[in-house]
Amino acid sequence: MKAVKIKDVLQNGATNSSCVVQGWVRTFRANRFIALNDGSTIDNLQCVVDFEALEESLLKQITTSAALELEGTLVESQGSGQKVELQVEKTTVLGASDPEKYPIQPKKHSLEFLREKAHLRVRTATFSSVMRVRSALAFAVHEFFQEEGFFYVNTPIITGSDAEGAGEMFRVSTLDPKKPALNESGEINYKNDFFGKETNLTVSGQLEAESYALGLGDVYTFGPTFRAENSNTTRHLAEFWMIEPEMAFYDLNDNMNLAEKFITSVLKKVLSRCEKDLHFLDERFDKEEKSKPQLERSPMGLLEKIKFVVENDFKRVSYSEAYEILRNSKPNKKKKFQFPITEWGVDLQSEHERFLVEKHFNCPVILFDYPANIKAFYMRRNDDEKTVRAMDILFPGIGEIVGGSQREERLDVLEKRIEEMEIDKEELWWYLDLRRFGSVPHSGFGLGFERLVQFTTGMNNIRDVIPFPRTPQNASF
Ligand code: ATP
Ligand code: MN
Repeated sequence: MKAVKIKDVLQNGATNSSCVVQGWVRTFRANRFIALNDGSTIDNLQCVVDFEALEESLLKQITTSAALELEGTLVESQGSGQKVELQVEKTTVLGASDPEKYPIQPKKHSLEFLREKAHLRVRTATFSSVMRVRSALAFAVHEFFQEEGFFYVNTPIITGSDAEGAGEMFRVSTLDPKKPALNESGEINYKNDFFGKETNLTVSGQLEAESYALGLGDVYTFGPTFRAENSNTTRHLAEFWMIEPEMAFYDLNDNMNLAEKFITSVLKKVLSRCEKDLHFLDERFDKEEKSKPQLERSPMGLLEKIKFVVENDFKRVSYSEAYEILRNSKPNKKKKFQFPITEWGVDLQSEHERFLVEKHFNCPVILFDYPANIKAFYMRRNDDEKTVRAMDILFPGIGEIVGGSQREERLDVLEKRIEEMEIDKEELWWYLDLRRFGSVPHSGFGLGFERLVQFTTGMNNIRDVIPFPRTPQNASF
């Protein structure tokens, strides 16, 4: 008989039918009740063995974390809160385990402890839920863009241009680190390196995506991104996944509309597809919040927050308006901000973003028209000459989830900006070409996938929403 997934058994299993399941033992009670989980759903299947009929040696191998195949008959459940349970007739040990040495015991472990057991943590209810939601979100991302007529493009992971990420990039090299070939001035001679020039891991696929948008129309990337920024926060990884749509003929307004529609659409899909996991995570979130001091608690539950985002429009505010709000805010006047808001043009820190989202507006906020000096060279300059057509989307508990802009499509303005910012123009020859041959207004944004998973699952630390996190001083596994 072919094994079936526990999810199907619990959904469609008819009493008195035979069935085979395969999975890992979560718990084994009273020498009788096995809670079996195969990862297909958060729920375990209760399986009842007749220990008197089992050989002693077999019985001994039914332990937490062992892998079993169980064959038997589905019967009405006596009280496990499920419709059916499995009356086991045949037990096969697929992989025995040593429950004494198995690091994950059937009790609550801290997330920090589980990070050190990242190879086994997906066998817990919390991590399996998070990873199923992550997978559903990834699928919904592709679904959204495909349904909107976007094309999926794969931009390079090894990049030869460092225009975007000065200082934050991971070098890719096959030179001998002990004896790299040097040139006359004592610097590394990249001519001898694999690609004949300095190369790095990408920090963003945007520039390449722009080239494809100006031919395919609407495109998106969804791939890994690397940043060697030494920020040990709960929102930064050295390796993370980014979704970057890029649209020809879109202005900033179109861009904001798309971003909002995109986020609410994927959240809606996951709300209906991951009901069980989200319900579990919602309860988990509640417990976590209750253990925090009153003032730091989230005013809304997890499901409540997601529904709120889906049902309410994001608030759109220009940087200048936000600046006035912040300047006149209580924490600013009482000098409670670590970075006081003193003059127009300052970059907003996470404390300011959170004040706007969590205290002032109480909803997701799109900030737009930022000062040119705090934004990248490629953002389209406004007629006021001071601001650019940038937009950031700020989320409660997360801060920045999206960063985007309308791109500068005018060759002369773009060149001038590149010179002002002392960026190597030669490197960008192909990017400038895009402005020479049929340039059109276009826009795009980048959404950090893990930050979206964080928001949806209520996990506080970004290290807990990616299977094997990479952060400063940590690349185990
Ligand atoms: P932040 O200010 O939070 O560092 P950023 O301004 O550097 O973000 P962008 O360069 O605009 O971010 O990147 C686009 C999106 O990628 C961000 O809105 C965020 O969701 C995500 N992101 C950026 N850096 C990281 C990181 N180190 N780890 C995970 N996600 C990130
Ligand atoms: Mn950053």
